[in-house]
Amino acid sequence: MTDKNRLRIAVQKSGRLNEGSMKLLKAIGVKLSIRDRLLIAHSTNLPIDLLQVRDDDIPGLVMDGVVDLGFIGENELEEKALERAAAGKASDYDVLTKLDFGDCRLSIAVPKEMSYAGPQDLAGCNVATTYPYLLERFFKQQGVNATALMLTGSVEVAPRAGLAEAICDLVSTGATLEANGLVEVQEIFQSKAVLIQRKGDMPVAKQALIDKLMPRIAGVMQAKESKYIMLHAPKDKLTEVTALLPGAENPTLLPLANCENTVAMHVVCTETLFWETMEKLKALGCSSILVMPIEKMMG
Ligand code: ATP
Ligand code: MG
Repeated sequence: MTDKNRLRIAVQKSGRLNEGSMKLLKAIGVKLSIRDRLLIAHSTNLPIDLLQVRDDDIPGLVMDGVVDLGFIGENELEEKALERAAAGKASDYDVLTKLDFGDCRLSIAVPKEMSYAGPQDLAGCNVATTYPYLLERFFKQQGVNATALMLTGSVEVAPRAGLAEAICDLVSTGATLEANGLVEVQEIFQSKAVLIQRKGDMPVAKQALIDKLMPRIAGVMQAKESKYIMLHAPKDKLTEVTALLPGAENPTLLPLANCENTVAMHVVCTETLFWETMEKLKALGCSSILVMPIEKMMG
């Protein structure tokens, strides 16, 4: 049961994008009552319904206007856009923001014993992949005459099974490739998770809700990168101390009881503070250096 006036968001039901998407929704204040076996979950505090589906379905759901927003990997999004273009279907959407999870790359890998000097070495080969459109685009750009062989799973065993000479698959660490005697030789696409919105008319209330959620998303991502720093600094070294702290142009300075030459400095840094920087601060005469995580931020 869904209501057209509620904002519909598609997320991957389970898999590599599920945790990042659900954590982000929680962090921006969307409370959900999830019943595992159901496709749909309702928010208990905002007019939002969550559709939990396979990631393959998310680009189409947004592009066909069935849902308003979707969390999806750029790899899947681009593949589906190319597939739809080949079928003469439009694929309109807006990317609202890149997200800070789901990083991976789509790469060609070949068996260890195969020599690879460049894309031309794949001429005449079958390359197994779940992303035939992205791979074919790469072949076309490189002017290589090779075949993208579509497999929906177990791509990495295709060379051993004699189905293909090479593969093109998603990689983050390379451990799966290594376990199958393959070496990554050519990156063809870099990907991150993104939040996309459907094109077309959006009821005013729904758009207002999206406009309210977007700064929250930016705030959550910014907070993850930022740190709240407190330290005691010698008054005559404040310029040097500030120069060591990224994004600390306007620190708060507070007097310390019974201590003329030292002040307490509070500052939000836009990057995490490395041990090396803390050691330099100490060398300048700073003490009681505390680095604390920030949960939320609003400018
Ligand atoms: P589904 O059942 O939803 O179709 P799936 O098996 O297609 O799931 P997952 O393996 O969960 O997909 O990956 C989903 C997305 O996560 C990928 O399309 C990609 O954008 C991203 N991702 C990040 N790191 C990796 C990785 N190391 N391997 C595969 N995908 C990754
Ligand atoms: Mg999938």
